[in-house]
Formats: sequence, structure tokens, C-alpha cells
Amino acid sequence: MQADLHERARLLLDRAVVEGVSPDEQRWLANHLSQCAECSRYAELSPRTIRALDSFAFDLDPAAAFRVQTAIRVRAGRMASRGRDSSIGILAAAFLTIAGSIAMWEPAAWLAIRWNWPAPAWQIGFAILWLLPSLILDVLLLFRGKWIADDSGNQGETV
Ligand SMILES: [Zn+2]
Repeated sequence: MQADLHERARLLLDRAVVEGVSPDEQRWLANHLSQCAECSRYAELSPRTIRALDSFAFDLDPAAAFRVQTAIRVRAGRMASRGRDSSIGILAAAFLTIAGSIAMWEPAAWLAIRWNWPAPAWQIGFAILWLLPSLILDVLLLFRGKWIADDSGNQGETV
């Protein structure tokens, strides 16, 4: 018997379980199953497999489901509020870095002229002493939010 006939028979068997097959297809299938032991065994196994899968289904205690849903909602709410808090902190730090740099640029230039420092030297000094600490603080704040999120996956234990 041709392999595609067996394949057709199995496809029809699978379809019959899900959506049903036409009378012509039923007749063809019955004819094939009467002649083919392999497909007959497949036809017996399919409903048995479905019954076995059905037996795995179990009723969930509604109170337990409600507790799990509530715990997940509370946890998601906490994580969202932590994310919001750290975002506000990062924005505030970035704003203060920019505003502070703009505000301190003129006094630093004035001091550099008074003390006869060449332009590249005081500008590099300004970047190292003023901008770099602020940027490091911004980066620390940025990753603090990520560390908190990672930490919350470890029941509060610091890794
Ligand atoms: Zn067959």
C-alpha cells in the first residue's frame, strides 16, 4: 500500500476528532482501516491518547487561584513603582548634571582666566572634577534600578 494513503488515513483520523469528516471521507477511511492494521492501530490509539490527556486535567481551587493572582498583581505593582522611582531619580540626576555644568561653566572659565590656566587644561579639569563624578552617579543610579529588579528575583538576598 502506498505511504501517502496511510498518511491520508491518519490525517482524516486526526481531522475526524477535531472537526469531523465528510461521508465520502468516512467511507474511504473505513475501507482503508479494514485493510490496514497499522492505521487501525493508530485509529485506536488516538482516542485513547485524548482520553489520557483529559485525565491530566484537574480542577483548580478558586481560592488558591485568587491568592496567586493577587500575589502576582501586588508583586507587579511593587516592581512598577520601583521602576518609576528609579526613573525619576535618574532624570533628576541627569537634569542636575546638565544644569550644574551649565551653571558652573562660567565661574570655572572666569577662575581659569584669573589663574592663567590654558583653555584645554581647565576644561579637562572641569570634565574630570565636575562632570565625571556626576556621570558616574547617573550610571550608578541607572544600574541601581536594574540591580533592584535582579535582586527581587532572589527573595531579597543580595547577590
Ligand atoms: Zn494505512
